[in-house]
Amino acid sequence: MSDSYVSARKRMVAQQLAARGIFDRRVLAAMRRVPRHLFVPDEARDRAYDDNPLPIGQSQTISQPYIVARMTELLALHGDEKVLEVGTGSGYQAAVLARLAGEVFTIERHADLAGRAAATLRKLGFDNVEVIHADGSGGWPPHAPYDAILVAAAAPNVPAPLVDQLADGGRLVLPVGDRRQQALVRVFRRGEEMERETFTPVAFVPLRGEHGWNK
Ligand code: SAM
Repeated sequence: MSDSYVSARKRMVAQQLAARGIFDRRVLAAMRRVPRHLFVPDEARDRAYDDNPLPIGQSQTISQPYIVARMTELLALHGDEKVLEVGTGSGYQAAVLARLAGEVFTIERHADLAGRAAATLRKLGFDNVEVIHADGSGGWPPHAPYDAILVAAAAPNVPAPLVDQLADGGRLVLPVGDRRQQALVRVFRRGEEMERETFTPVAFVPLRGEHGWNK
């Protein structure tokens, strides 16, 4: 995959990710490969590798590269997992996950974002990703259980259906907090035991829908 943004991507990985403590070599390699500039609107292409989120339409954003890397690293993927992402947005995070896992289901509530993300992923040959247009705040039972679940929007608390859809040994990573500020939370399922850890402070757009912010 050769393109004119290769050096911008290498710089992004070195300066924004590795230098800030992202150690998982597979995550760094995936983010060196996925062409982030093809997931943002045309007018934002030259800013695609900047150290911040960018607007993608519908008042939504593609997350900052560091946050994509951090959440992905927390999922500790090895290569054959079934992954659910809630909040497809541009499809970029799903593409990173697709390089690191066996299959990815990603759900988006905005029809036009879901359509655009599906088209981008298809064009780039990501054939292990399925984009679903639906409310994903309660997960996606038809393909459960999942080895890993990533929620890319802020929830007021950990939605119970998502925990229910975790496989034994599964990991759920999501931002939990109020509307303005949250922290990344990881729930690790061991049988019927759930281990909960709290990490980096973050600021995400709200998770809407039945198990999110309903307004
Ligand atoms: N992962 C995305 C990417 O790589 O571009 C960025 C996600 S953006 C920060 C959050 C997304 O979550 C938005 O596209 C928003 O429409 C979506 N969203 C919010 N609530 C949702 C819900 N209940 N079900 C599905 N998608 C939802």
